[in-house]
This record gives sequence, C-alpha cells and structure tokens, in this order.
Amino acid sequence: MPDTSRPLAGRSAIVTGSTSGIGLGIARSLADAGADILLNGFGDPAAIAALATEIAGATGARVAHCPADMTKPAEIAAMIPFAEREFGRGVDILVNNAGIQHVAAIDAFPPEKWDAIIAINLSAVFHATRAALPGMKARRWGRIVNIASAHGLVASPFKSAYVAAKHGVVGFTKSTALEVAEFGITANAICPGYVWTPLVETQIGDQAKAHGIDREQVIRDVILAPQAAKRFTTVEELGALAVLLCGPAGQSFNGAALPVDNGWTAR
Ligand code: NAD
Repeated sequence: MPDTSRPLAGRSAIVTGSTSGIGLGIARSLADAGADILLNGFGDPAAIAALATEIAGATGARVAHCPADMTKPAEIAAMIPFAEREFGRGVDILVNNAGIQHVAAIDAFPPEKWDAIIAINLSAVFHATRAALPGMKARRWGRIVNIASAHGLVASPFKSAYVAAKHGVVGFTKSTALEVAEFGITANAICPGYVWTPLVETQIGDQAKAHGIDREQVIRDVILAPQAAKRFTTVEELGALAVLLCGPAGQSFNGAALPVDNGWTAR
C-alpha cells in the first residue's frame, strides 16, 4: 500500500527562493510529503545550513542548498546537475518561486529595477525549466509549479514590472504545459493574493510612500482592499496546494493558473 501521508516519497524537488517566505513554506510541505529538497536563495550561510538541518530532522528528507543567483542563467542551469549530484537521482519537481518586487510609477521606475524583476521573476523560470526538462522528458515524469501571483491575472498601479513578469509567467506556464504533456509532465501556476512575507513587509513601506498614506491604511485600503476576504493567505495553504499538484491527485491539472487569493480575481 502506498503511504498516502507521504505522496512524494522517492521524489526530489528544487524550490527556488526558498530561504524565506512562500518558497520556504513550500519546501517544508514538499519535504513533509516525502520529497528530498534542494533549497535555493540568499541569506547567511550558517543560518541556511541550520534551516536545512532543521527541515531534514523534522521530515526525514535529504535537504541541501544551492546558492545559484536567479539573475545568472549559467548558475540557474548548473543548479540541475548540482541537485542530481546531491540526491543521486534526477530532478522530479521544479518549483519556480524566487521573486522580488519594486513599487513605483512607470515614469519614475528605475530601469535597473525593471531588468532585475524581469530577470528573477520571469526569465529565471525559463532558464530553470529549460535545464530541468531534458531529464524529466527522459524519465517521462515531471512536475513544474510556477509561483505567479494574482498579479499574473489582474493588474495594480505602480507594479508595472511585477505585473508584466507575472502575466509572462502565466503565459509561459501554458506553453510549457502544451509542449510537455505527452511526456508525463505537468506545468501549473499558483496565483496567490497577499501572503504575509518579508516581500510584502517591504512593500508596505513603499506603498505608503507611493500613495502618501500610513502603514495601517496601506494594509486596509491598498493591500487587502481587492480581496473579498480581508485575510492574508498562509504559506502552509500554498504548500498544501503544491503537494496536491505534485502528487497523484494532481495529475490532471495542466496549464492552469490557480488563484489562491481570497476572492480577489473573482471580481
Ligand atoms: P520573500 O522575499 O520572502 O522570499 C524571496 C526569496 O527569493 C528569498 O529566499 C530570496 O533569497 C530569494 N531571492 C531573491 N532574489 C534572488 C536571486 N537573485 N536569486 C536567488 N534567490 C533569490 O518573498 P515571498 O513573498 O515569499 O515571494 C515568493 C514568491 O511568491 C515571489 O515570486 C513572489 O512574487 C510570489 N508572490 C508573493 C506574494 C506575497 O504576498 N508575498 C503574493 C503573490 C506572489
């Protein structure tokens, strides 16, 4: 009998941008479901090593870290053989999660911020997928989960680069799904509303400046305003969805952009 509490036993997964926030939450959930995990992202090396040890101890998974910079295509490509060496097997699951944000009017948007957002939030998804697909195709099994955003489906002012990148991620996910479906590979996008993470915490200050209002007003009138339910989505909820998409029950999701946004995009 397969162990239904560990639907990803025997799988290995890369989660980009998983030293913090949503990526870390998804990495914990995938490890808990039985997958070995390659963490990626920035941070203090000793703290990341302690995090890897903690997740491994709590779940029994093998957990390693690759410091690849998602602005550097060669480092992204090298992350796949790095994971194969760490786990002694191919990469079954790729979660493209790393992302940054910058909030400013278009005519004041620094071009270097535009370039960085497109590189990390969109181009890195292409580079990682490109590098992971040959192995997935050869083994005729793979799961690609792209963390887009409600901003992959609708727009907000002052977030032009982010909205452009996330709409791009949703489109790229659909193309990927159509190309690889016959190889037993699925590609889906998760589109969260607001999740309380360091990325959002930074934005609260930036939004306050852009709109000329205080922190409490930003949370009530800007951040949670478009959502029908005025609550933040949790990283555990997103982790559970990633496990579903990667496990046996997720087989028929392909090319979907799944809103997890407390009703935001239902409007
Ligand atoms: P976060 O700031 O908590 O974490 C971002 C992670 O990406 C960190 O691990 C960081 O080290 C890593 N990272 C940043 N630049 C990198 C680079 N160049 N190379 C490698 N790693 C890099 O952010 P988060 O809120 O957890 O966001 C994660 C993803 O979820 C992003 O793609 C974001 O757009 C998306 N998202 C977030 C929210 C939200 O409300 N927080 C909502 C929808 C979508």
